[in-house]
Order: sequence, then C-alpha cells, then structure tokens
Amino acid sequence: MIHTEGPLLSIDIGDRETSEETIDEVVESFIGGRGVGTKLAHDRIPFDADPLGPENRLVFAAGPLQTSTMSFTGRMSCTGLSPLTDGLLSSNAGGFMSRPFIETGYAAVEVTGASNELVGVHVTDEGVEFEAVPDLEGATVEETIEHIESSTGLGADHTAIVGPAGENGVRFACIMTSESRAFGRGGLGAALGAKGVKFLTFDGDSAPDIGLDDELVAEIHKEAAESGSPMKDAGTVSVSSYANAVGALPTKYFQELEYDKVDEIGAPAVMEHKYKKGTCSACAFACKLPTRDEESGLETEGPEYETMMAFGSNALVDDFVAIMKSNELCDQYGMDTISCGDAIAAYLASEDEFGNVDLIHELVEKIAHREGVGDLLAEGIDRFHDELGVENWSMKGMEFAAHDGRTLNGQGLSFATSNRGADHMYAEMYQLEYPLVPPEKALDSDGVAGKSDRLIEMENKNAVHDSGVLCKFAFTNMNEERYERLYDASWDELQEAGSRIVELERHFNNKRGMNRADDEALPYELDGLADELSNYYQLRGWNDDGTVPDTDVEGAVSADD
Ligand code: SF4
Repeated sequence: MIHTEGPLLSIDIGDRETSEETIDEVVESFIGGRGVGTKLAHDRIPFDADPLGPENRLVFAAGPLQTSTMSFTGRMSCTGLSPLTDGLLSSNAGGFMSRPFIETGYAAVEVTGASNELVGVHVTDEGVEFEAVPDLEGATVEETIEHIESSTGLGADHTAIVGPAGENGVRFACIMTSESRAFGRGGLGAALGAKGVKFLTFDGDSAPDIGLDDELVAEIHKEAAESGSPMKDAGTVSVSSYANAVGALPTKYFQELEYDKVDEIGAPAVMEHKYKKGTCSACAFACKLPTRDEESGLETEGPEYETMMAFGSNALVDDFVAIMKSNELCDQYGMDTISCGDAIAAYLASEDEFGNVDLIHELVEKIAHREGVGDLLAEGIDRFHDELGVENWSMKGMEFAAHDGRTLNGQGLSFATSNRGADHMYAEMYQLEYPLVPPEKALDSDGVAGKSDRLIEMENKNAVHDSGVLCKFAFTNMNEERYERLYDASWDELQEAGSRIVELERHFNNKRGMNRADDEALPYELDGLADELSNYYQLRGWNDDGTVPDTDVEGAVSADD
C-alpha cells in the first residue's frame, strides 16, 4: 500500500519548541492525511482534553498522492478535537497548500500547547520560525495574506489562516487557505485560534519520491481535463435543481424540502456570475468558479451547493448576490458556511425573519466577533436551540448539510453513524440514492434496512480517499480496480485501512462519552433505525451500545504496527 513518508514535526506553540520523530509504522498502516492525523490524534490527545485548551493537537497531513501530477489531488487534511462536536474530527481543504506542505518533507505537522501572544509559524524543510504578530489581532483572511506576502514573499497558496472567528472561539470557525478554501467543518479554526496561532506557512523543496502507477495517474488526469461534467460549468450547485426536484433540499430552517426559487440561486445564477475558472493544485477538473456581481463589484468563489442551501433556501433568500456576500463574509472571517448559515436560519425561524438579508449579514458579523446575539449563535445550534426555542437541527453537535436524509434515507443513516456528525462527505450515501445514479451503483433511497454493508463500504472508502489524499469529486473516475492500482493494495486491504481509521475515531469519541444514544439522536424518524444501527455495529464488530471494544482498537493497531 502506498503511503506518505517523512517524520512528524511537533510544534509546541507555548514553549516555542519543535521536535521531530519517526512515524514509519503509523504511515505504513494509515497512508497519510486523515488516517495519519487520526492515529496521531487518537494516541496523543488526552481523552479528557478541552478542545479549546493547550492539550488539544491539530495535525496537518498531506498524503502520497500529493507527490503526483494527477487531477483530484489538490487537497489535504487537518485532524483534532472539535470544539463543535466535542469529538475527534478531520477536515479536508482544497486549494494549493497541499503542495508546499508536502515540499517541507514532513509526513505530518502537529501543533500543540498555547501561546499568550498572537503568533505566526513558518515551516520549511530547513526548520521552523516563529513570528509574533500582535498587530494582526482581528485581521481578516485577506489582511493576513497581505501581511504574509509582504513579510515573506509567500502567496496565499502557502498559508493556513485563522480569521477573527477562530480568534474569538466561534465553534464553527474554519482554518482558511488559498484565500477562499477552508478546512471547513467542525471548528478547528477555533482550536487553532485558542492556541494563539494566527497563521502557518509551508514551503520547501523536499517532497518524498513515492512510486505511483504513472499510467493510471496520466489516464485519470486526462479524463479530468476532457470531462463534460456539469460540475465544470456550475460547480457543486449543478446538483441544486435536481436535489430540489426529488425533495432533498432543506428549506426554511429544515421545515420544508423544496424551494420554488432554487434556479434564482442555483446553477443558472452561478453560471451567470462566474467570470473565470478556478481549481486546486494539479487539478484539470477545475470545478471552482469565482463569481462577480458587476453592479456592486462584489467578488467571491461559488458559492458551493451547501452554502446555497444554508444561506439561501434554508433562510428563504432568493437573492443570489446576497448569498455571495454571506459566503464572502464567512471566507474573510473564517467560518464554515454550512454551520453559520444554519445557525442564522435557526435565529430567523425564532424571530420569523426569513428572507431578511440585511439581518443575515449583520448576524454573520456579530457571530464572527461574538457581539450581542452573535455570541450565542457562535456556540452552534446544539448548544443554543433551547434558548431560542427552535428545533435542534444538528447531529453530534454539527449542523446539517443538504442532501436531506428524510428523502435519501441511506444518507440519513449515514448522518446517524458518522463520527463527524451531520456532514454529507463522511460517507456520501446520497451519491448512491439520487435517481440518476447508474443502476450498477444505485441504492433505493427508501428505507434504511439492510443498508449498513454499503454504508460501511462507503465510510471505509472515503476514509481511504481522505488519507490518499484524493478529492471526493473523483467518484466517477474510480472503481475497485483503479483503487487497487492507485493505492497499490487489494480492495480488501483498503477497506481494512479505512475501517481502522473509522474505528479509531469512534473509539476516541466513545472515551468522551459518545455512544448509541448519539447515533439515534436524529431530529426525524427513520423507520427501522434502531434495528439497522444494531446491524451496523454487528457488521463492524462493535458493541450494541455503539462502542468499540478497547481490545479491538489495540489489536487492530498493534497488528499493523
Ligand atoms: S475536483 Fe474540484 S475540489 Fe476537487 S481537487 Fe479538483 S478543483 Fe479541487
């Protein structure tokens, strides 16, 4: 099995000390990216750590595929204890930083401790430098990039940045990179901000030489360049009308599943406002679409489908430019657009203010700076819903993504079992359940009974994706034979590797008190959920209370060490 190479670099922000250690056994079993981050975080973060305390660790890791020239590889991972879900979580960002990161020669870089003063950290293949940056307190992402460019000459593509929201401990704050890309879900920006880190930069010329199947790399790259996918024209919102037509688009704070104005904010609107193509490093698929409103001069990227849901249909906003502005504010302040938009939709529901775009933009500002009611909303729906008297549309602390599980029931099952909470990318069951899916892959969207074997396969596959690190949008380019060639391992070996990662996440979360009750806490009924959860646990070899036997984890890890 291919895997990343190089030592682990540990950076203690409080003591301004660094150390390196060999982690060959970890990378051999866990590939890179999310897998390596999960293994290190599981073993090194105390089970009772405070997500916003110095004992939390943020592990940045690229993977073996970042040494290639293949499309769909412009991504990397960050893992840590989430201030939003209170569990172990990996978040995955696109953009360009994965290449400068791999060029440092480190397999993984972890940040621990906490600094009393705001600091920037420069990581290269020649060492680490710390830079006190008190003047950047409260700086936006753009302002921080300007500082880095002027002081180091490095562009936005080398940076991981905490915006004002992360500094202020907003529980769904992102770590931003390449201006508009984000380690988005789960609030790792707040965890890094709590350490007093404003930014990290990565640079070097020491990427490891990893043997890959060059013929397959070239084939996939060619397919990406020649693809006629609608995503290349409209990005992820290309699914908007389709999801709406089947009744899977959350609308009016999840009270409805169709939005009659979807075309005013979906694919047609993005295509009308895009002014150039955007991409991630090495990727010829280029599904990113910078957009501009000629009248106001406002520019942003996308927005993506999920942002269109959270700040559009879920808030009953049919004004595309207003959604662009919400997206841009979140990017500048460093906040996950899904959680932020959903939290604001919850507030609009409580005040009967759906569609009030001025209020929405005011709330984005207030959340980022924890001002007024923004201080409450910054806690996330799980923590504030009682106070506002609204339904709790979160799962394990995380606000719901689109692709609604009430229509796509397998996706609902995935929201239940996901170690990360209500995130659609964890298993992507929706990819199998929309009616246009090719028959050989398709899964009837109705019901959850008997779906656990496919769910487990998807969870494991995606864990391998996130460890490669391979973009999820390569789904039409991959099949079992290609996985085996690309990762130089049998399908069964890859499934086992994915299972090890999922199991370690679950084990860590169990130690923090998460169990079956958290899996059953969907805000809607799914017939047969309890029985199917038992089936899922049994197939995974876990206890019926949703916990992983300690002996399983130790055995699984030591067997591969
Ligand atoms: S498919 Fe899109 S998101 Fe994925 S790496 Fe390529 S440009 Fe980035």
